[in-house]
Parts: sequence; structure tokens; C-alpha cells
Amino acid sequence: MAARVVTVDRRSLRARGGAFGARAFAKGLSVTWKHFSRNLMGWVRGKPTVATVMFPEEDVVKPAAFRGMPVLVQMDDGKERCVACGLCEWACPVDCISIDPAETPDPIERHPLRFDIDMGRCMFCGLCEEACPEEAIVMSDRVEISAFSRGGIVWNKEDLLVPQDQLARRLDWIRRSYER
Ligand code: SF4
Ligand code: SF4
Repeated sequence: MAARVVTVDRRSLRARGGAFGARAFAKGLSVTWKHFSRNLMGWVRGKPTVATVMFPEEDVVKPAAFRGMPVLVQMDDGKERCVACGLCEWACPVDCISIDPAETPDPIERHPLRFDIDMGRCMFCGLCEEACPEEAIVMSDRVEISAFSRGGIVWNKEDLLVPQDQLARRLDWIRRSYER
């Protein structure tokens, strides 16, 4: 039995596609124009309808749950809260944390002699924060990590230490998340 042959009228298909494309193009333009004129009129009236932030001169307050770069908590006496247990190093899925532990004069505590995070590899996942038993490494709201060299993007302990009162919102959020 001969196969049923269907002849496709490509010319009419192309014509219909062209009309559809022109309609879509016109619709896209109208949406762009609508937003442009609304934003322009808002700006002229002094009531802007878009929230443009002039970064870095201006910044936005980010929610406590926001995960920026991980930082080390610095206690009021200037020391790091980290006891160099290595759990965050172990938990990090991209191996971007390097710690050299050392003894302290205190008979119990240790501290990190070296604590480096390669921000070029960090993916801001927050697993180091979750693994830490001391609340010593937390996700901050900082995102400015660019550098001019590959080496410059490795942050060491001195770069990473942030006074605990500046991290109070995040630390409070972590404690409340344990209760949930
Ligand atoms: S946020 Fe994630 S990737 Fe970055 S240091 Fe912590 S565990 Fe590693
Ligand atoms: S930051 Fe926390 S998990 Fe990482 S080594 Fe220090 S105490 Fe341990």
C-alpha cells in the first residue's frame, strides 16, 4: 500500500510565522515602552518606581537569611571564636578552606594559626556555617570579593575576622533557626 503523502505548504507557513513574529515583536516593544514611560514619568515627578541602588556608594539592607561570603567571628577580646576543629574544612564541598591549627596558652582551647578561604572557589553554600559547633564561621552580607589577581582572592584570618556585634543579626538568625 502506498504511503500517504502530505504536502506541506511551506510558503503559507512562513507567511503565518512572519505575521506571528511581527505581532510578538510589536507586543514586546509595547511592554518595553510601557515600563520606560512609567519609570520616566516617576522620575520626572520625583517618585521613582524602580529601586535602583547606586552601589557601592549606596547599599541595601539584606535579610538576615542572606548568604554572602563566610567570615570568622571575632570576640570582644579581639580573639577568634574558632577552635580550629576542622569541621568546616571537612564539610566544605569545594575544599576552599585551609586551616593550620595551633595550641594556645589556654590548656583546653586551640586556635587557627592560619585560616584561609579561597573566595574564588567558595560557592556561598553555608555548609561551613552549619558544620561549625562554635558559631565561629558565619555567612555575612558581604559580597565584594573581587581582586586583581588569583592570589588576592584568597582571604586569610586577618581579612576574615569580623567583630561579633557586626554579625549579631546573623548569629541571632542562626540561633532562631535551631529552634524551628
Ligand atoms: S560557604 Fe560553602 S563553599 Fe564557601 S567556604 Fe563555606 S562550605 Fe565552602
Ligand atoms: S570555624 Fe568552626 S568548624 Fe571551622 S575550624 Fe573553627 S570552630 Fe571548627
